[in-house]
Amino acid sequence: MSTIANNLQSVRNRIQQACSLAGRPPESVTLLAVSKTFPAVTVREAFDAGQRRFGENYVQEALVKIAELADLRSQIEWHMIGPLQSNKTRVVAESFDWVHTVDRLKVAQRLSEQRPEGLPPLQVCIQVNTSGEASKSGIAPEEAESLARAVAALPRLTLRGVMALPAPSEDPAVQHAELARVRSVFEHLKAQGLPVDTLSMGMSGDLAAAIGEGSTLVRVGTALFGRR
Ligand SMILES: *Cc1c(COP(=O)(O)O)cnc(C)c1O
Repeated sequence: MSTIANNLQSVRNRIQQACSLAGRPPESVTLLAVSKTFPAVTVREAFDAGQRRFGENYVQEALVKIAELADLRSQIEWHMIGPLQSNKTRVVAESFDWVHTVDRLKVAQRLSEQRPEGLPPLQVCIQVNTSGEASKSGIAPEEAESLARAVAALPRLTLRGVMALPAPSEDPAVQHAELARVRSVFEHLKAQGLPVDTLSMGMSGDLAAAIGEGSTLVRVGTALFGRR
């Protein structure tokens, strides 16, 4: 087996273990392979090992890879997980299947207007900032519901859920507290009747904790592809 095939297997095992600890079925968690900074040939290797969903952070870099992997386009799901400026919404609406980082109405409106008619609606998560750091992207938890309602009403977007990128911490208690705050935003939207099914949180370092706190989609880069 190639290194990437091996890594994929061990990440899948970690997901399964975390699910079984949490009393959840293993298929309740989706693995998104974060391929930022790695070339198309690496994505192809992961594809050959069975991986189908890939996350990218930088629009220009992603467009090059998506073009280089055009032969696999109908089989790959491309997820935009990096900060999104409003002048980049058109290419994102044209090229991606999912966007996890919608944190303001203007970006949502542009994505909806610019999503080509021939494609299915763009799948969208609201990025929430539960760390309260001014430098980070993401909407404040108390504003998530109104943005989620607005996204759900836009014709070319499908609201899927909530995404977060908690501040890294070595302390499991701190990790859990932050992940639990993200979960409570997700649960609040559900309780308000919003049609959400995706809680996008957990990376190489905290995927087990995130699954324990209800994550349905983990975004894993380093553990699959190595250090960037
Ligand atoms: C880079 C990145 C990841 C993957 O992080 P790893 O620690 O390499 O697994 C996940 N989510 C986002 C938003 C990222 O930018």
